[in-house]
Amino acid sequence: MSELDALVVGGGVSGLVLAHYLAETGLAVEVWERDGRVGGKIKTISKQGYRLDNAASMVMNFQRELDGFIDSASLTASKRGRSSNNQRYILHAGRLQPAPASIGSLFNTPLLSTRAKLRLLAEPLIIRGTDPHESVADFVTRRLGQEFVSKVFEPYLSGPLASDVERAEAWSTMPRLTALEQRYGSLALGALLRRLKRRGTAARPEVFSFAGGMQTLIESLAERRGFAVRTGMAVVELRRVKKGWNVRAENDGVTTSLNCRQLVLCTPAYTAASLLQILDPEISRLLKTIDYAPVSVVHTGFERARINHPLDGSGFLLPANGGYLPNGCLWISSQFSDRAPTDRVLLTSYLGGARNPTAANCCENRCLHAVMPMLRELLGARGDPEMLHVARHRRALPLYHDDYSRRLAAIGERLEFLPGVHLGANYIGGVSIRDRILYANRLTARILHRHKQMSGTADLETAFELVPAMAAAR
Ligand SMILES: Cc1cc2nc3c(=O)[nH]c(=O)nc-3n(C[C@H](O)[C@H](O)[C@H](O)COP(=O)(O)OP(=O)(O)OC[C@H]3O[C@@H](n4cnc5c(N)ncnc54)[C@H](O)[C@@H]3O)c2cc1C
Repeated sequence: MSELDALVVGGGVSGLVLAHYLAETGLAVEVWERDGRVGGKIKTISKQGYRLDNAASMVMNFQRELDGFIDSASLTASKRGRSSNNQRYILHAGRLQPAPASIGSLFNTPLLSTRAKLRLLAEPLIIRGTDPHESVADFVTRRLGQEFVSKVFEPYLSGPLASDVERAEAWSTMPRLTALEQRYGSLALGALLRRLKRRGTAARPEVFSFAGGMQTLIESLAERRGFAVRTGMAVVELRRVKKGWNVRAENDGVTTSLNCRQLVLCTPAYTAASLLQILDPEISRLLKTIDYAPVSVVHTGFERARINHPLDGSGFLLPANGGYLPNGCLWISSQFSDRAPTDRVLLTSYLGGARNPTAANCCENRCLHAVMPMLRELLGARGDPEMLHVARHRRALPLYHDDYSRRLAAIGERLEFLPGVHLGANYIGGVSIRDRILYANRLTARILHRHKQMSGTADLETAFELVPAMAAAR
């Protein structure tokens, strides 16, 4: 039977980026993907001249490590920055108001009352929190006041993260913000000190996609020569063998099996749970407790002349009490010029999430009925869209809810008894593409370490030198 250094199960962006990093170290790597295509949630399609991303539509970056990744994956030439007008709006009192983008703008924004602004001044005096499972709502109320929760944080968590501000664990959901409190005792002072400390060395924040959409990221990774990708391989069984793990997959009734030293499950948590059921029922139970929120992505294309709003920014978010069903809308064609035909605009709205999961189940027609009042009243849309496409994700995003970090820590402890088995999808380390790249980078170091322990052949120091982005991060 053939034997491999590392098998990555699941060819979504998490699995592909990890395979890329592992292959760069010289390990023999394969990716086994259940579907007939790689990419998982990420897929770009063309319809009536519009280019539509079914899940992630852009990468938000403020970490230097990402530059190394883009370079090593030969993606520099296809990277496309978004428009410089990236103002995000939040609905307040029936109008779209610019979302505050800096500490200074918090004192000018009409989103917050004078009382809430004065409360901000007390932030540096609030003592550090000690509850590692505190919710985002409790964390923000404690540090910034309750108004910040409903008017700023709730829309951000319900929209891009499909999460529930009352249940999202602050330390897992906003690790950089909570770290400011832990390290400096204050968000405002911490942000200021960190900026001063990193002056001249910090990465410039940027938002980008790729020519051809996010699919280009996937294709570029999958076409790289360093590792093999096999599609149509639904992994159904894992067994412990003398030198690692035996993995069995089924493809149209044909069974394929392979032995590997390192096995990385980059599938959603519920799939990892069923694959690990026999090997460790407790890990399986813990993985099953990770809930996912459904999201429907509603793409609408209009003639430019049929939208009154200048669409001068990136889009808007809606608060729970805003009176509309969707969580928000992105003005994709204002951000990336190749997404809509000339004189047309692409507006992408999001339904569902933890706030309103049933809204994601609507048929295409009802989705249109759910987004049109919002587009008519807030953007002055006239008539029906000339293009409509709905991408449904029944289990779109994992929810970092309740005592999330406790459950992940328990999973990590038990994984020690399955040497060579690793978990690497978006329920660990953040859901964004940026976080998936950073996490894959860190996981590569851990896998190499384990590989060295198990086989005695991999030289960790040499491996670090082979991964430029990883070396930079040390
Ligand atoms: C609507 C939406 C919008 C988003 N927008 C953004 C955005 O703008 N920017 C951003 O940074 N992020 C965004 N995200 C988040 C980001 O797209 C996801 O977190 C990321 O794509 C998840 O990748 P993954 O590889 O972890 O999981 P998945 O994409 O779910 O991949 C898992 C893979 O495992 C495979 N698999 C499952 N079972 C098996 C098995 N038994 N054997 C073999 N293979 C198996 C699946 O077929 C799948 O290909 C968005 C997500 C959604 C849903």
